[in-house]
Amino acid sequence: MSVLVYIENTNGELKKSAFEAASYAKEVADLLNTEAIAVSIGDVDRQALSSLGNCGVTKVFHVSQDNLKNFVNQAYASIVAHIAKEQKATVVVFSNTFSGKGLAPRVATKLNAALVAGAITLPTITGEQFALKRNAFSNKAIATVTVETPVKVITINPNSFAVKETGGTAQVEDYSAPVGGEDFSTIVKDIVRATDKISLPEAEIVVSAGRGLKGPENWGMIEELASVLGAATACSKPVSDAGWRPHSEHVGQTGLVVSPNLYIAIGISGAIQHLAGVSSSKTIVVINKDPEAPFFKVADYGIVGDAFVVVPKLIEALKVYKG
Ligand code: FAD
Repeated sequence: MSVLVYIENTNGELKKSAFEAASYAKEVADLLNTEAIAVSIGDVDRQALSSLGNCGVTKVFHVSQDNLKNFVNQAYASIVAHIAKEQKATVVVFSNTFSGKGLAPRVATKLNAALVAGAITLPTITGEQFALKRNAFSNKAIATVTVETPVKVITINPNSFAVKETGGTAQVEDYSAPVGGEDFSTIVKDIVRATDKISLPEAEIVVSAGRGLKGPENWGMIEELASVLGAATACSKPVSDAGWRPHSEHVGQTGLVVSPNLYIAIGISGAIQHLAGVSSSKTIVVINKDPEAPFFKVADYGIVGDAFVVVPKLIEALKVYKG
């Protein structure tokens, strides 16, 4: 028996969310009195993989083949499912990222496993009962999901679980993957990064702006604030609908769901559809000129004021603070 975690990388560099998933897997493994093991696909430095031992992972299967350099959903899913079967994994953990969202349901199908997407707690295990909590109805309710299949697949949102350092190094084992044929019905020939900006779903700080900014020409100060803070930028739906910002920045019920440590909302009213995508942020700061804006009800800190006055002052102060 084991708990298997899929370790994601970008251009060979392990993602922060991969360490969070590894740490989560270790905690699940402890509950099951078993060990947490990992699978990493692509060219990743062995030392980086062995550092997963600091999250409690004992062994990492390292799959590095030419035809697997780029993310191929079907092939990657086959490999994870294969290793899960071989290692008798009863739980398989993914980050709820773009690739994790693609892989988890495929792996669950291959393993006849139930899938709990976006778990917000560790499982409660009582005898054969395995229960998890997840957000439901656009974060307006919390559902307790009871899983009865022998194998369970869980995804967790980036920034939702802290990495718990355990010390130690993981054993890294090269693994030759038995993939071919239909696993490569889709081939990724090339990946062109649209932007070098911080990835929004995984960002620890998000600076987001809405229709209160009046037009795309005013986003300079939003970009600057994000740059000073090392943050990703986001926006409300009408802003991306109007073409002021790319759709990839739209957060909310119909856009991305984010859970950063800090979400700064500027000139956004706080409609429920917007809050659905951001309410699990750890700290919310709202800047709005209308003191009655609904966003203030869920804010940890609020500034009632004109964004065109407040934001430049904030940038100035942060620059002084950062030296
Ligand atoms: P507005 O509602 O126009 O608010 C602008 C805010 O800026 C106001 O609060 C105003 O006081 C403030 N403001 C104006 N000038 C300034 C200034 N100078 N300084 C400071 N503050 C200022 N929306 C989403 O964002 N994401 C979604 O995923 C989403 N999905 C939806 C799905 C459905 C089915 C529906 C019906 C709607 C959805 N919406 C979504 C739209 C949502 O209901 C709101 O209309 C939208 O979030 C409002 O965007 P906003 O806050 O940027 O604009």
